[in-house]
Amino acid sequence: MADEPHNNRPTIKPWIEGIHAYVPGKAKASDGRELVKLSANENPLGCSEAALAAMAEARHPALYPDPDATALRAAIGELHGVDPARIVCGTGSDELLNLAAQAYAGPGDEVLFSRYSFSVYDIAARRCGATPVEAEDRDYSMDVDALLAAVTDRTRVVFLANPNNPTGTYLPREEIARLHAGLPREVLFVLDQAYGEYLTAAEDDGGLELAAAHENVLVTRTFSKIYGLAGERIGWGTGAPHIVDALNRIRGPFNVTNHGQAAAKAACGDQSFVEHSREHNAAELQRFAEAMDALGNHGIRTVPSKANFLLVLFEGALSAETALQALADGGYAVRHLPGQGLPHALRITIGTREQMDAIAAIIREQAEQAG
Ligand SMILES: *Cc1c(COP(=O)(O)O)cnc(C)c1O
Repeated sequence: MADEPHNNRPTIKPWIEGIHAYVPGKAKASDGRELVKLSANENPLGCSEAALAAMAEARHPALYPDPDATALRAAIGELHGVDPARIVCGTGSDELLNLAAQAYAGPGDEVLFSRYSFSVYDIAARRCGATPVEAEDRDYSMDVDALLAAVTDRTRVVFLANPNNPTGTYLPREEIARLHAGLPREVLFVLDQAYGEYLTAAEDDGGLELAAAHENVLVTRTFSKIYGLAGERIGWGTGAPHIVDALNRIRGPFNVTNHGQAAAKAACGDQSFVEHSREHNAAELQRFAEAMDALGNHGIRTVPSKANFLLVLFEGALSAETALQALADGGYAVRHLPGQGLPHALRITIGTREQMDAIAAIIREQAEQAG
């Protein structure tokens, strides 16, 4: 710990020292065995063939990418009806979340988010020296009243993921509008729609409309989830010109690779892959949730999810740790998040039908053994 300044080596900033590094989802057992990875919310169907073909053609490793991702922003803008001038691309939406905190908050300021939300928000707040503040959840979902009650005159940024990770919970359009309406205008509302494409058109939370109409809303999206391009690191955000300008000032100048830009642009043009992924996810999510809810007499319950994963709560004789180990023994990696206050839960990404049936069978067997 760097409690005392050292005069013989550089001293880490105290707010950086307070950061717990992001813990990624595992793909290996403790003995090094490869596992089926259902721990990082990746698309089990891979990505669009069109994206693969575009990547194969985009072979310019010696050249810097277009710093403005012009063609990609045009494709995103066309797809979503957003002016490309109001779009900024990032090295994953992760970069944009961090830049939003950095641009609008600093030491002495507060960055607010819900309990059981994306762990990057806490890191983004601390990275710029701001104080992370957690509002109470309501049975694992985001609680607009609790968030509004937690706003102080130091609040500068509010992060909300909809649907949320790691709970999968979702707030409808009216609740998102109510949250935005209740925030002071000088607070930046960052609405993280990483799982937005898993919603149906009727479930759309209105975020893009809010970002188009107001001066204090940034919506972020990613190609990592339904588009299946997590390895390429491409995200985007949209908001008022002054917000986009702020992020452009501090982002990496060449923050999206040639490959990534080409892949994401082609992926925008292949919405049938997105639809197919959404339908696969909806069907398998429902089937898996029913299998878990059938174990209610064993103290197992699920949190209602609209994302590509399910948070399963172990409140009976079978513990999450025991289930985690049994799943690893059976060849599956899922996410245990004790560091986020969820020692009694597992977050399980929706994979193929065979994978989900196998996982359900392992958990059922363990639950019956535990009593
Ligand atoms: C996965 C995820 C992201 C996206 O991360 P990328 O950096 O775009 O890969 C953002 N927000 C939430 C809530 C996520 O779960």
